[in-house]
Amino acid sequence: MPLQDQLYDLFLLDQQVRGLRTRLDAATRRLGAQSNKLDQLRQQQTELSDQVKHGQAEVSSLEHEASDLDERVKKLREQMNNVRNNKEYSAMLVEVNTFKDEKGKLEDQALEKMGEVDATGQRLAEVQAQVTDQVKLVELAQAEVQSSKDEVGDQLADATAKREIAADQIPSDRLAQFERLADNYDGETLGEIEEQDRRRREYTCGGCYMELPIERVNALMMKPDELVTCPSCNRFLYIKQELKAEIGAK
Ligand SMILES: [Zn+2]
Repeated sequence: MPLQDQLYDLFLLDQQVRGLRTRLDAATRRLGAQSNKLDQLRQQQTELSDQVKHGQAEVSSLEHEASDLDERVKKLREQMNNVRNNKEYSAMLVEVNTFKDEKGKLEDQALEKMGEVDATGQRLAEVQAQVTDQVKLVELAQAEVQSSKDEVGDQLADATAKREIAADQIPSDRLAQFERLADNYDGETLGEIEEQDRRRREYTCGGCYMELPIERVNALMMKPDELVTCPSCNRFLYIKQELKAEIGAK
């Protein structure tokens, strides 16, 4: 088989492999995106649940402090019952009032903190619900990846093996060029020659639509074992059998 035809075979198989892989890749990408979102939600869940725990600990320590002050007030009151000295009594009364003030402040703080903890708890419940939904989405995405694999896995393995055999037929420098083009042009490695005007010998590259020097068209026609590229986009040029036959008949 002439090199030009071998390259065309490789091109077709490359297209097939790409098409099949695109389906798998799309499913895999969707799974990745859904999994990332789940990770983020779980992290949020952990942070919020930590906040709730810390908040609850703060509330109970404030409540403790407040009840400690209460105890001290009670004790002072008992002591005050036994005090006969007016000055001492007044000093104790000042202390009682200070403790009461402090206790009031601590209780206010505890209330405020409780409000925060409640709000965080609500947010946590929302995130937990989101996590549950997201787990389902991840499971669906996993199933989609699996069904894509079931569907295209065998075809992809088959096409990949055939592509390898076809690639082995191409000289290594040309193959490297092909692979580079395939990467750059997303598999559109070939520019099919399009006839614009036969009489004026005007031909364009189907890849970049630029006009081709007639020497390139002639080389493609006459030397099927040589590969010819487009001077504008560097794609390998390809001529359909029908067009080749028509030009050749002239
Ligand atoms: Zn071109």
